[in-house]
Amino acid sequence: MGRVIIIGAGGVGTVVAKKVAMNHNIFTDIMLASRTKSKCDSIAKEIKESLGVDIKTAAVDADKVDELVALFNSFKPELVINVALPYQDLTIMDACLEAGVNYLDTANYEPLDEAKYQYSWQWAYRERFEKAGLTAILGCGFDPGVTSIFTAYAAKHHFDEIHYLDIVDCNGGDHHKAFATNFNPEINIREITQKGKYYENGKWIETEPQEIHRPLHYPGIGVRESYLLYHEELESLVLNFPSIKRARFWMTFGEEYLTHLRVIQNIGMDSIEPINYNGVEIVPIQFLKAVLPNPQDLGNNYTGETSIGCRIRGTKNGEEHTYYIWNNCSHQAAFRETGMQGVSYTTGVPATVGAMMFFKGLWNKPGVHNVEEFDPDPFLEEVSIQGLPWHEHLDVDIEFEK
Ligand code: NDP
Repeated sequence: MGRVIIIGAGGVGTVVAKKVAMNHNIFTDIMLASRTKSKCDSIAKEIKESLGVDIKTAAVDADKVDELVALFNSFKPELVINVALPYQDLTIMDACLEAGVNYLDTANYEPLDEAKYQYSWQWAYRERFEKAGLTAILGCGFDPGVTSIFTAYAAKHHFDEIHYLDIVDCNGGDHHKAFATNFNPEINIREITQKGKYYENGKWIETEPQEIHRPLHYPGIGVRESYLLYHEELESLVLNFPSIKRARFWMTFGEEYLTHLRVIQNIGMDSIEPINYNGVEIVPIQFLKAVLPNPQDLGNNYTGETSIGCRIRGTKNGEEHTYYIWNNCSHQAAFRETGMQGVSYTTGVPATVGAMMFFKGLWNKPGVHNVEEFDPDPFLEEVSIQGLPWHEHLDVDIEFEK
């Protein structure tokens, strides 16, 4: 029924490959392609041994449109699940247009030489995808992804107007390393060292990095200091839900993590400017990635849970209500099921479920769409079944003022 190609064999790609194979009735023909073929081969071998499912593998440089087109033309997938890096989004979308393939990703395009997060580059493909009769599903991880779908669900079932949206992301886990990032270190550090930004009354307000923070209570975890930062789903959510007066994103960081991050910044190791080292050009943050723990290797010793959700205030039938919808994910449970920690798991499972929605014909809409533009109900039903059950409370203390 469904021919799918997964691009990227990192932590998230591993989870997607395994979950796709577990749903072999929908994903009948599967290929995993990445820069380093040996990584794809070892994931495919493990899947064959544990699930008895065959996965084809291939080497591809996803920065090169012609290589992608040749691969697509030989495998003939209906859908690409892009879980390589945000730098490859546009080349993969170009190749999709050329070869007539639908597209799904988990992170918006970022130019390699500038840490800048905005959807404009990918939204510029709308007309071309529409004309080609192809669907592009943007931002189908957890955040962006499930958080955007939680918001759509709240708007559909609980509110006439959403006024205040606070997305809260807590990693209450412990990987027992002095410092490590939970997904690609380069992408992660570029994101966190950015200035903060939030939306209020039609304007974007910029803050210094980690300038605004407050303690928040997370179910099953407790109180954690949470820092306001800019996150890409805010950009599309305020457009798709125009009643929103204020939208913010909060993420928890421990003192130890922030101290390491400060040192990294102070000594310039987060720089994306190339430098000459002994006649070789290196980019400090890429070198740092090479010496930091690989996020894929954190799972074995990772304890605790993530807790990510949306806290919303708005009106229904003229009355004000509050609403909290969230998922908690255990790192150990994620590791037992897929060999990866909770952050890779909470990204890979929604990407798989988004792809299921596509193949079931529920999320097919030619054009380029953020996930909150689709029906949230079948997705949220399936994501629970696939390992990310969620909870909701109406009219509770959401810890945020108007
Ligand atoms: P990893 O660094 O672990 O994996 C990235 C993979 O992409 C690697 O296998 C890498 O190959 C491959 N790759 C990189 N460049 C190319 C290229 N030019 N051509 C082909 N393959 C390439 O990252 P993660 O798995 O942690 O993250 C994957 C994606 O998920 C990222 O875009 C990240 O931003 C996103 N993400 C989204 C989240 C969400 O909630 N929405 C949360 C977490 C992550 P090689 O092995 O050779 O290096």
